[in-house]
Amino acid sequence: MTSTTPATNSATSPQSAEDTFDVRPSSHPRTAEERAEVLSDLGFGVAFTDHMARATWTSDAGWHDRRIEAYAPLQLDPAAAVLHYAQEIFEGLKAYAHADGSVWAFRPEANARRFARSARRLALPELPEEDFLASIRALVHTDVEWVPTSSGASMYLRPFMFASEAFLGVRPAKRVEYLVIASPVGPYFTRGFTPVSIWVSEEYHRAGPGGTGEAKCGGNYAASLLPQQEAYAHGCDQVCFLDSSTNTLLEELGGMNLFVVGADGVVSTPRLSGTILEGVTRSSILELLGEQGHEVRERDIPLAEVLDGVASGAVTEVFACGTAAVVTPVGRLASARFDVSVADGAAGAVTTAIHTALTDVQFGVQEDTHGWMQRLV
Ligand SMILES: *Cc1c(COP(=O)(O)O)cnc(C)c1O
Repeated sequence: MTSTTPATNSATSPQSAEDTFDVRPSSHPRTAEERAEVLSDLGFGVAFTDHMARATWTSDAGWHDRRIEAYAPLQLDPAAAVLHYAQEIFEGLKAYAHADGSVWAFRPEANARRFARSARRLALPELPEEDFLASIRALVHTDVEWVPTSSGASMYLRPFMFASEAFLGVRPAKRVEYLVIASPVGPYFTRGFTPVSIWVSEEYHRAGPGGTGEAKCGGNYAASLLPQQEAYAHGCDQVCFLDSSTNTLLEELGGMNLFVVGADGVVSTPRLSGTILEGVTRSSILELLGEQGHEVRERDIPLAEVLDGVASGAVTEVFACGTAAVVTPVGRLASARFDVSVADGAAGAVTTAIHTALTDVQFGVQEDTHGWMQRLV
């Protein structure tokens, strides 16, 4: 690069989103009627807005061509590295419409930082935090009419990055694409706040020491699908993984972190051992629980301790958490060796209170005393 090459804008944050991301409006946006029809029947991640954010990285030019363009299928060379060696990472966060018409994201800078950490682990170029935030602002601005306003609904944002260079050699790609797509989503639980059942996989693991468990990459999810199928086959909704070193400690679900509530009011979650994804929801809940007067512990949690606790009454609640579902009560734990219900199998008081506290901040019902919400529109 010569000194006349424009630098990436990593050091200049005050630029507006529109300055950084060139908005190229779709020539074929859907009509207001078509949009209303989609918004009247929301699933999860099945409908997408009219636009997507995009930027390209090459080893020569760095990040460039930041733009908002029409949502459309990608053109990809069959030799694109991602299709062969899975050099890919992603993020997930939500934008919420508040009663006054403003639109807010929940802790997007935490997702931006995690995206950079994941990029490092997958030998992908780090996207500057400002670009991550600008891409989200610009996309939500452009497709603001797609942000649902119905109760419990939100706009799910999916930033992702992958190796697009066409080559079959094994090395980090010299060409990478970054995109953000947006999906209006309904409340995760169409049946209300219903407890899920969990299959504890004692045969498969999701991550190992030194592996990619703490990076948010597609490969981790690919590895979790077979055990997830096993969970379904045993009549369970989700799979929980144990640590691969001892096969005795609870880690997390395929895409959600786990909490255990004791009868003594102490709430525990597996410590970040390097094989667990550090959820934004998880860290927010740790803070909120502390403020609600709970003692919180990040520690090793043996499965045997939880099974004993469920039997004796020392464990009163188990719940899972993540952006998509926010907080999910766990009513049943099963494996080839056991099948137990947690307390009476219904959502517990701590789980319900933490779900309410979190969603009230996200939907602007309660004051955001932590500075977690960032205004997008
Ligand atoms: C994304 C994810 C989570 C939840 O993270 P949030 O930031 O709370 O959405 C938990 N575990 C895994 C494996 C994940 O990929």
